[in-house]
Amino acid sequence: MTSARTRDRLVERLRQNGIYQEQILERIRNVPRHLFVDEALSSRAYEDSALPIGQGQTISQPYIVALMTQALLEDGAGGLRMLPKALEIGTGCGYQTAVLSPFVRRLFSIERIAPLLSQTRDRLRELKVDNVRFRNDDGFNGWPGQAPFDGIIVTAAPQREPDTLLTQLAPGGRLVVPVGPNGGEQRLLRITRTDDGYTREDLGAVAFVPMLEGKEKGVR
Ligand code: SAH
Repeated sequence: MTSARTRDRLVERLRQNGIYQEQILERIRNVPRHLFVDEALSSRAYEDSALPIGQGQTISQPYIVALMTQALLEDGAGGLRMLPKALEIGTGCGYQTAVLSPFVRRLFSIERIAPLLSQTRDRLRELKVDNVRFRNDDGFNGWPGQAPFDGIIVTAAPQREPDTLLTQLAPGGRLVVPVGPNGGEQRLLRITRTDDGYTREDLGAVAFVPMLEGKEKGVR
């Protein structure tokens, strides 16, 4: 179920769907996704689909995780750029965090549901993902004390572009974010901060859980 062959099949599928960065494919192959889902679902962990993780939340589809990671890091010349400082909104189970972590020097990650975050901290510590600082807060505020960021990745969908996050981008920095109504059409956007404003690219249709305001206690 969690064999090398199953993982190879997943990686092959992502490659066919346009993930061309070998380092990202290799990272997807190596992150043990079965440890991020309930044991009852571990046989499905290497399918290219989203799965429930409790608290009404989901672990993202591997293709989307790879696509967002690539969109954040590709350098336009066929390579990857390593980011000094990046921010993630929507830690959830930490799968996207784990995939991204080797490509950034310092990663900051915000989750609004406290119990999800405490499980994730433990899981990532066990997996030796150790360049991440976590915060239980409303990601709409970003992380002002650490801004600006070279990259920001949002794994829940706000209805509109999140203005505060845009202001926390460094020049040349990118925000990768799904924008649109809950249950309606959401578009994955890559917004780049330039010297005199922002440029936007549409990376396609996606389906994310909504980005919600405020913190939540959740149920243990
Ligand atoms: N990144 C995860 C997917 C998380 S699902 C993965 O790799 O699989 C989206 C997460 O965003 C949920 O855990 C949800 O609680 C969180 N979220 C939603 N709105 C938020 C907000 N305003 N601030 C921080 N986290 C938020």
